[in-house]
Amino acid sequence: MSEHVRVLLSEEEVDARIQAIGDQISRDYEGRQVHLVCVLKGGSFFMCELAKRITVPVSLDFMSVSSYGKDTKSSGVVKIVKDLDESIKDKDVLVVEDIVDSGRTLSYLLEMLRDRGPKSLRLCTLLDKPERRVVEVNVDYTGFEIPDAFVVGYGLDYDQRYRNLPYIGVVEFD
Ligand code: 5GP
Repeated sequence: MSEHVRVLLSEEEVDARIQAIGDQISRDYEGRQVHLVCVLKGGSFFMCELAKRITVPVSLDFMSVSSYGKDTKSSGVVKIVKDLDESIKDKDVLVVEDIVDSGRTLSYLLEMLRDRGPKSLRLCTLLDKPERRVVEVNVDYTGFEIPDAFVVGYGLDYDQRYRNLPYIGVVEFD
């Protein structure tokens, strides 16, 4: 079976939206430092682009949780593969994710991070598939709401490929 990628959101659309979110975050965190927590690997492209557009002081950290692999359905199993390097206690933490799907990963992660005593904890996601939600998650900043389709690009992979696409596409099988 072969596959191809159909463009869903162009590079220009994604860039413009990230700029708008960066502006919003800069206003909301005026006078404070924002500590971005990137969920690897998918969130990394979005986080770098977002961080460049935030004008208040920014610090960064990374964590990695188990995800889909080759399967395109959520297993519901969330495992911390790499934890943060630094404490988030008393920091204004903004979690940066690629996509919220069932919400399982984020609800688990946010609960775990909240227990570590940040001053504030918010969530920013590039993409949201609200139709797919199983567990409720409060998203503070959303790039785009998209329909239920398996997407790649801008950090999102299919079997570890396509992360480097500068746009968001849908994988279609021929
Ligand atoms: P959730 O726990 O919300 O179901 O899933 C979140 C994770 O599933 C994301 O961080 C991402 O790794 C993966 N995921 C969900 N939907 C998609 C998709 O359409 N494409 C890709 N590449 N990954 C997805």
